[in-house]
Amino acid sequence: MYAPRQDDGRSAEDVLHGTITPPMFPIELHGIPGSLHFHDVVESEFTIGNPESPVLVLARRVPHVGRALGYRLMWRGVTVTYLSDHQQPSGAEFTVDDGVLELCSGADLLIHDSQYLPDEFAGRSDWGHCTAEFAVWLAEKAGARRLALFHHDPDHNDDCVDEILATAQKLATTVDVFAAAERTTITVGPASH
Ligand SMILES: [Zn+2]
Repeated sequence: MYAPRQDDGRSAEDVLHGTITPPMFPIELHGIPGSLHFHDVVESEFTIGNPESPVLVLARRVPHVGRALGYRLMWRGVTVTYLSDHQQPSGAEFTVDDGVLELCSGADLLIHDSQYLPDEFAGRSDWGHCTAEFAVWLAEKAGARRLALFHHDPDHNDDCVDEILATAQKLATTVDVFAAAERTTITVGPASH
């Protein structure tokens, strides 16, 4: 698991240890099958995967209510950017941090927060998330080729996600937009365009 430390100094491992523990959970973190390896990540570049053909990862801070990082993964000329949680500016004008733009620039696939309808965002403008309108704006500003709307609001049903997608697709002029869904397999790369 790759994640940043919280502002109070706790690592992802500390946080999970504190959450996955009786009495709120039936077992301790180490009772979960599998082997867990934790990596504290700061803004940096590092590699993961097969050392003979490693994936280069760029990590940058992303505005959010809690400390959050976004990741740009680059492998064999293909770039996928993962920005699960992104605080949209609360004002009417969209802006983006340089580090975030660096993550998204020219991505073949941008997986981005799109939690709120504009009406909902108005009442939750400091909860750490954004609208699909903001996601489309950022994707096009950064020159991303495809945008996966992600981090759907738990109170939105499929019809609502379909409506958000339709609005985003109407708004988009250069980026190909779709809604992320469980168990979807996506092929990315120069050949898929
Ligand atoms: Zn969040």
